[in-house]
Amino acid sequence: MSKILGIIGGGQLGMMITEAAKKMPEKISKIIVLDPTENCPASQVGAQQIVADFKDKNAIQNLAEQSDIITYEIESGDSDVLKSVEDKAEINPSPETLKIIQDKFLQKSFLLENKIPVPEFIEINSFNELQEGLKKFGFPALLKARRDAYDGRGNFKIDSQSEVQKAYDYFKGQKLMLEKFVPFKMEVSVIAARNTKGQIKTYPLVENIHEENILRETIAPARVMDTISKKAEDIANTTMSVLKGAGVFGIEMFVTQDDQILINEIAPRVHNSGHHTLQSSETSQFEQHLRAILGLELGGVKLLHQAIMYNILGSKNFEGEYLPIEISGDNIFLKMYGKKISKPLRKLGHLNVVGNPEDSLEDLFKKISSIKDKVETNPLN
Ligand code: ATP
Ligand code: MG
Repeated sequence: MSKILGIIGGGQLGMMITEAAKKMPEKISKIIVLDPTENCPASQVGAQQIVADFKDKNAIQNLAEQSDIITYEIESGDSDVLKSVEDKAEINPSPETLKIIQDKFLQKSFLLENKIPVPEFIEINSFNELQEGLKKFGFPALLKARRDAYDGRGNFKIDSQSEVQKAYDYFKGQKLMLEKFVPFKMEVSVIAARNTKGQIKTYPLVENIHEENILRETIAPARVMDTISKKAEDIANTTMSVLKGAGVFGIEMFVTQDDQILINEIAPRVHNSGHHTLQSSETSQFEQHLRAILGLELGGVKLLHQAIMYNILGSKNFEGEYLPIEISGDNIFLKMYGKKISKPLRKLGHLNVVGNPEDSLEDLFKKISSIKDKVETNPLN
């Protein structure tokens, strides 16, 4: 029987989930997204939209009444509200899994309990505990908001004693944790899937390059030795088996100077570093997510072509409508998210550059650098 899919969040991730869902009409007959912005990206590609805040209890109930199955593209949903509508629709990943993941301290505690390697961390409930923690970890250290952080906005890197008060004040009223700074060699991630029946698959390790805390590009596969990829993929597998969530998860990790893998954080949803799978892999992460939550056999995760994903971010110089971005070429795939307004560093689209078998990663880098200028955002007038 074909199902009605509800998605909390209709931004670019909801949009690409919607597009994947549209390709499986025998499994999904209709898509409804809940998003506060009218004409959100997902609604532009065929999802119905309930215009309401992500945390609006009535709207979530309304969505649950209309849907057979609910998933999300954001991790900040209210897990208690979701729990209360579980009798109306199946929710995946489950509200219990979401509850653990959406609080960075609970998430890391859970990983540690399951012997999965993470940076050293402690809970912070007072200024005094922060001072004690810094004595233990030394400088620099990262003070992090436990909840609702994104694009690095919930982090404060404390470099010296003189910044401690400022860092503490920055997060006034929020629940906090302190983490030892990891002087990593590389940031990497694994897109992992687990279906409702417990089948697990992990995509090959990719490398992530951030600029000002925002993902700039993803390189697939990561430029590391096979032993390191294997280690990271094993850790991702173990994580999925203890977490028991159904769906696709983005697992962000650090490769340390001595080639250890530490998990930085898990996103309980499709992830920006998995966008390359749209053209590079046997199954895209969006289709995989649907397969996972519908309890279908998971698709293949083989990387068929090496690829670089380059995020199209709003120019730092202006906010407003922007000139349309167009680019085409051999093995160049542009995806714009239908956002009308550019804001500094806002994610507006991405570009996948995919390799022919004879191309080297170097060739792909050259290709990307020759087209970067063409995807800069410029004011419409
Ligand atoms: P995002 O939405 O981009 O995932 P976020 O707000 O959830 O960001 P984190 O993923 O915790 O924040 O951290 C953002 C970036 O800060 C990481 O990608 C990494 O570059 C850096 N970072 C985080 N924790 C540490 C650490 N313990 N040591 C060194 N760098 C860190
Ligand atoms: Mg992160």
